Amino acid sequence: MRILITNDDGAGAHGLSVLHQIAKAISDDVWIVAPETNQSGASHALTLQVPLRYREIGERAFAVRGTPADCVIMGVKHVLKDKAPDLVLSGVNHGANLAEDVTYSGTIAGAMEGTLLGIRSIAMSLTIGFDPEGKQHWKSPVEHGPRLVKQLLDAEWPAMTLMNINYPDLAPGDVRGVVATRQGRRDQGGLHIQERSDTWGDPYFWVGFERRRSDPPQGTDLRAIADGFISVTPLHLNLTHEGAREALGEVLSLDRASPLKDVG
Ligand code: MN
Repeated sequence: MRILITNDDGAGAHGLSVLHQIAKAISDDVWIVAPETNQSGASHALTLQVPLRYREIGERAFAVRGTPADCVIMGVKHVLKDKAPDLVLSGVNHGANLAEDVTYSGTIAGAMEGTLLGIRSIAMSLTIGFDPEGKQHWKSPVEHGPRLVKQLLDAEWPAMTLMNINYPDLAPGDVRGVVATRQGRRDQGGLHIQERSDTWGDPYFWVGFERRRSDPPQGTDLRAIADGFISVTPLHLNLTHEGAREALGEVLSLDRASPLKDVG
C-alpha cells in the first residue's frame, strides 16, 4: 500500500515524524510531501499567485513552498504521478482539530484534498494543553494510530468522506477507548483579537484562541476528547444542508413580472 503523508505544521514538525512512524507501521511505501513552513489555519487554500517550488529533504521526502492542499496535489500529480497513493494521512497536528476548527484546519484540508482526488484520507491531531504537567503525549498516536488506520481501511467509506481523528492529551495507557463522533460546537467565545504595541507604539493584532474545558454534548468530538477517548469523525465534503434545501424549495420563486434587480 502506497501512503502519502503531509501536515500543516511544516516539514520539520515533530508531529510529521510521528505520522511517519504510524505510516511505516502499515507500509514500506511511504512518501512525505509537506509544507516548507507552518501552514496552520491555512484551511483548504491553494497557492495561485506565485509558483510552487519544492525540494528534496530526504529519501522519499519533499518540502513544498505552499499549503497542505498544494502538497497533496504536488504529491499525487507530480511526485507520485507514476502510481497514485492508496491512502493520504495528514498530521499529526500539534493541537486538536475539533468542532469549528474543522473549516480552519490545514491538517484536515490535506485530507480533504486527498478525498477530492479519490483517495481515502485521514487527518490526525493530538490534543495539547490540558495536561496538568504540560506534557505532550505524542506516544498515544504512535501506539494507537496504526491499528486505528487499519480498522478504518476495513470500514465502509461513503464517497466524498474523510476521517478526522483526534487523540486526547493522555498517555497511551490512559486513553479510555475510541468512539465515532459528530462535529461539535464550542459553547464559548471562540476567536478573539489580541491588541499589542510595536516598537513605535503602533498597534498590531493577533487572532487569539480561548481554550478551556466546557461541558460539550454527548456524541460530539469535543465530548469524546473531554472524556479521554480518541474521537473519529467522518466528515463529508459536500456542505449542503439538506433540510434547509428542502425548506427553501417551498419559499423560493422567481416572479418574472418584477425581476430581482428591481427589488429594494
Ligand atoms: Mn497545525
